[in-house]
Amino acid sequence: MAEQTVTIIGGGLAGSECALQLARRGVSVTLYEMRPKVSSPAHHTGHLAELVCSNSFKATRLDSAAGLLKEELRRMGSCLLACAERASVPAGGALAVDRERFSAEVEALVSAEDRIEVRHEEVQTVPAGPVVIAAGPLCSPALSEALHELVGGESLAFFDAAAPIVDASTLDMDILFTQSRYDEAGEGDYLNAPLNREEYESFIEALVGAERVVLKDFESGDLFQACQPAEEVARKGLDAIRFGAMKPVGLTDPRTGRRPWAAVQLRAENAERTAYNLVGFQTNLTFPEQRRVFRMIPGLENAEFFRYGVMHRNTFVDAPHVLDRTFAVPGTTVRLAGQITGTEGYMEAVASGLLAALNTYAQLEGLPAVELPRTGALGSLVNYATDPETQDYQPMHVNFGLVPPLVDKRRRGKRERYAAYAERALHDLDGYLATRQDLFHA
Ligand SMILES: Cc1cc2nc3c(=O)[nH]c(=O)nc-3n(C[C@H](O)[C@H](O)[C@H](O)COP(=O)(O)OP(=O)(O)OC[C@H]3O[C@@H](n4cnc5c(N)ncnc54)[C@H](O)[C@@H]3O)c2cc1C
Repeated sequence: MAEQTVTIIGGGLAGSECALQLARRGVSVTLYEMRPKVSSPAHHTGHLAELVCSNSFKATRLDSAAGLLKEELRRMGSCLLACAERASVPAGGALAVDRERFSAEVEALVSAEDRIEVRHEEVQTVPAGPVVIAAGPLCSPALSEALHELVGGESLAFFDAAAPIVDASTLDMDILFTQSRYDEAGEGDYLNAPLNREEYESFIEALVGAERVVLKDFESGDLFQACQPAEEVARKGLDAIRFGAMKPVGLTDPRTGRRPWAAVQLRAENAERTAYNLVGFQTNLTFPEQRRVFRMIPGLENAEFFRYGVMHRNTFVDAPHVLDRTFAVPGTTVRLAGQITGTEGYMEAVASGLLAALNTYAQLEGLPAVELPRTGALGSLVNYATDPETQDYQPMHVNFGLVPPLVDKRRRGKRERYAAYAERALHDLDGYLATRQDLFHA
């Protein structure tokens, strides 16, 4: 068994998964997490695996890339996926969690491992020995600088946006109705705020005209795609957001028996449903403007905000050109994991942490590196992120646009095609895992 201790920097999604996976394979780990002593602009607690924005890990359906990723992680024994499932709250076809419970589940697993020592300290230089840097998109400035020196290539910084969270007890339940899209039965997982055309147009006018914290120099193209501020989307055209976050399809307002002109969906933040986030309303408006504009949404006239939306930095390296196929910095004992590699998304960060653990373990034990089949959600993302042919590297989440086309060219509808991708991916993954008992015997 490997005797060296692995240093992991960052007790977020990637770092926590990585630590647990290494410990379960008999490797000792020192896990550094700078919070709560030093915080980031988006974190609020000192807990491990804190979710900084949405509480959703996205779709669970197997014929979606996000759902397939979860199944792949399940087959590879992901610890944090299991924690998320234990902490889940109802969210239609998605896996959403009570974020405090999720962190508590992760911390319970970590503290049960004798081989993991957690140190709440900021790491400012890259330590000697085997290291996994999983410091996330909000990596502290000193470490970002040290990393930049190490990789010597492009290290980019830009801004993401987080949605506001409101107090459930201040919402007008005579106006809001519970329903999931296309849910005929009634009692759905979301709260919906219906808007008629006039209300919608006034709201959009206010949203677009409201004062923002950071002005013009943040072009929408520079923003994290899945987390674009609502006002940026709305600026693209009067109806732009009605085809996105405010789309009314699949909803029927019980008061009118009809589909509203537009709707804002609110998703429970916790199992008790005492707090709701405004789905898709990540924003860069000033706090007073958020209060004014979001209170124009019917049912939110008296809403109190537990947390306002904010914008944040995002740091990631040009992985295809400065990291090898295992996300290691060539010629060093340093490996990167999580969003800092330029992969994007909560589950992707978990997956990246798992992969970093497997590759670090393989290296310590003299085993071959992990080579996941490219047909998979994770395998195709890894291929994209580490292929030197990838140009203009930008953060990427799993999607079926990254997997190779099906050999059988028979015409299929989108759902049927996606189901075929998933079937192929799981077949290939099972085949690969069967050959890697050296990594998965634990
Ligand atoms: C504002 C924002 C909103 C996002 N919203 C979503 C979303 O809604 N859905 C989604 O799927 N993805 C979202 N992402 C993207 C991404 O999935 C998350 O950032 C995810 O948490 C990344 O996981 P990670 O483990 O790489 O980093 P993190 O979970 O951020 O973990 C990194 C950890 O490293 C610690 N750290 C940093 N520097 C040091 C240091 N020098 N020493 C010690 N510890 C350090 C940090 O405190 C942190 O705990 C968002 C990102 C941001 C920035």
